[in-house]
Amino acid sequence: MSNRVAIAIAAHPDDIEFQMAGTLALLGKAGYKTHYLTLASGNCGSAKYNAAMTRSIRNTEARAAAKTLGAQFHPSITDDLEIIYNLELLRALAAVIREVKPGIVLTHSPQDYMEDHMNTSRLAVTAAFTRGMPNFKTAPPRPTADYEVTVYHSMPHGLCDGLRRRVIPGAFVNTTSVHKTQLKALAVHKSQQNWLDVSQGLNSFLLVLEDMSLAVGRMSRKFKHAEGWRRHLHFGFCAPEADPLAQALGRNCLVNQAYERSLQRGF
Ligand SMILES: [Zn+2]
Repeated sequence: MSNRVAIAIAAHPDDIEFQMAGTLALLGKAGYKTHYLTLASGNCGSAKYNAAMTRSIRNTEARAAAKTLGAQFHPSITDDLEIIYNLELLRALAAVIREVKPGIVLTHSPQDYMEDHMNTSRLAVTAAFTRGMPNFKTAPPRPTADYEVTVYHSMPHGLCDGLRRRVIPGAFVNTTSVHKTQLKALAVHKSQQNWLDVSQGLNSFLLVLEDMSLAVGRMSRKFKHAEGWRRHLHFGFCAPEADPLAQALGRNCLVNQAYERSLQRGF
């Protein structure tokens, strides 16, 4: 049995809003206690302000976005492009996991367009893995606990991997009922509207979310707006078929049977 606690662990302020916020909001409505953590501060997300100023602006925005989603905010632990799979970050993230004791971890896709996202995914997986290992020391030190956790990977940015291949979700979450909340949380990241226009040629980041959730919705053939998820292999985490997300969200979570059939089982 897993705890009715969920944490979204992403790389940068606004990543949760793009890929995970609908699901996080639905879990909140389903009675889960929800948590919000972006590993990096977002300090590189401006061509106008210096790193310290940008860090401060984005911390304020992320805090407000977490509030909009009804999730508990956790401060970032490093800076942009410095999310490296290393011991320091692993110890810090494992301490958060031990404090929160999540039954559900939502994090990035293992394949994505940039290293911060992929390293966040790896760090989140290992931090959750160490929850019951007293010989692995966290920073700050936190006691271990014995419970099940299930890790889910979000869709990558652009819905394809770094080699441009389409990623197919293992499950679709119907985010239509919370879509407005998700847009509202994304709109809080005001500093990014202009920055994304300049750096990536996105005419509006709200439109990006709109397009992406509609595209995943079309893939589901059932929901208007959706988020896609792939469940991490259970070894070291939970029972083989544990799927607390599907359990918590009921009809709002549709397992992709085509994906399930495509899995080549080990043993
Ligand atoms: Zn990002």
